[in-house]
Amino acid sequence: MSERPNLNFFWFRRDLRVEDNRSLFEALKGSQPIIPLFIFDKDILDKLEDRDDKRVNFLHEAIQDLSKDIEARGGKMMVRYGKPLEIWEALLSEFNIGKIYTNEDYEPYARKRDEAVKNLAEKNGASFHAFKDSVIRSAVEVLKDDGKPYTVFTPFKNKYRATLEDDTLEHYPSEDLKNYSALADGKIPSLESMGFEKVEVDFPSKELRQSILTEYADKRNIPGIQGTSRLGVHLRFGTIGIRALGREAFSQSEVFFNELIWRDFYQMILWHFPHVETKAFRPAYDMIPWRKDEEDFEKWREGRTGYPIVDAGMRELNETGFMHNRVRMIVASFLTKHLLLDWRWGEAWFARKLLDFDLASNNGGWQWASGSGTDAAPYFRIFNPESQTKKFDPKGDYIRQWVPEISGFDYPSPMVDHKFARERALSVYKEALNSAK
Ligand code: FAD
Repeated sequence: MSERPNLNFFWFRRDLRVEDNRSLFEALKGSQPIIPLFIFDKDILDKLEDRDDKRVNFLHEAIQDLSKDIEARGGKMMVRYGKPLEIWEALLSEFNIGKIYTNEDYEPYARKRDEAVKNLAEKNGASFHAFKDSVIRSAVEVLKDDGKPYTVFTPFKNKYRATLEDDTLEHYPSEDLKNYSALADGKIPSLESMGFEKVEVDFPSKELRQSILTEYADKRNIPGIQGTSRLGVHLRFGTIGIRALGREAFSQSEVFFNELIWRDFYQMILWHFPHVETKAFRPAYDMIPWRKDEEDFEKWREGRTGYPIVDAGMRELNETGFMHNRVRMIVASFLTKHLLLDWRWGEAWFARKLLDFDLASNNGGWQWASGSGTDAAPYFRIFNPESQTKKFDPKGDYIRQWVPEISGFDYPSPMVDHKFARERALSVYKEALNSAK
């Protein structure tokens, strides 16, 4: 037994960078060298429906970049494809592992996975160390005075800001440490070997233009220009760190920093109220008799509703994997209120297509739009696609980009009349909520 090499492991997940990585910093400070590990998780990949999934391509590229960064520091990545628990079982018998380091992941699946790996490690004499890295403030850090979680954003944000500490956005210089093992072979399984195809996509850059922050408050709601950072996918996979972005944003844009607080808010909601993954945050909303109209759903999905702003958004999403936040709100309101289709259908489509898909933010956004979530306003907020267009795309720049046939005869007429749909939604919601009393 004693011939097995003594070392520690660092397990990368949502933190695919060597810079300012909280747990990596702790791991590299130790006296034992670490093997940097990434697992292409079969449990997750098998559930994806598209063989040309853009996220898997992004992930694959990110792992190649990470591997180069680690090699430049004298180490070698170990990259495996399989079920995490089985891989850890094999590793724990192959190596004499002292410590496993990783960063916390708060999604329900990840919490169960990590609990199982921790138990397995402990049974085999290894310890499991997880640190906060993917959020600025964790779900238990910002609570009401009575210790209960917030359920409305504004008071949460106020407490969040009022209780920020000097070290909340601290930089952990993991990039300066080199205590990596070169024992692994550094090989990365190909996309094809995991059943995926390579696609040509221009992924959003990691760079944040200075003007994005300084002009964010004025430009963030205009989908026809690039007024937002497009960093969502990098935050999702940790190819940029949330503290680094927070440090840049904090002094320059209060509005931008508030969006990072929204991100933590939804992580907090998912942590304290895990039922939201499948059910309404406010249980009464599960009484709504959603229409089960597959044809209407298909029109929405494909951007053929006859409402140009909705169609532009859906086409942008399907083609690029991105949709502007303002348009996400409009298309989500349209699906749930105008079409009275279940928010879970829309949520699942976004989960399949969004490059920056994140369970907590996506679920939070959808429940907010359908009225069943944490929106402080009542359900009768129903976005009017026409007035939203007048306000946020007055010259039609965004619409023309994605719906070029708008000026010809080919464009369909609206699939449902706005006034009719609005009244139908109000009465169906009202009746359902009354029946839940
Ligand atoms: P920026 O405007 O540049 O904001 C910077 C970062 O702040 C974002 O990258 C994101 O991490 C965070 N952020 C901004 N707005 C929000 C918000 N409202 N809620 C939570 N975090 C926010 N965001 C996701 O990251 N993943 C999702 O799956 C997702 N699904 C959504 C679904 C719906 C129905 C709605 C209404 C919103 C959703 N959002 C989601 C939130 C928001 O639309 C995106 O974060 C944003 O559009 C990403 O673009 P950006 O990186 O240019 O954002």
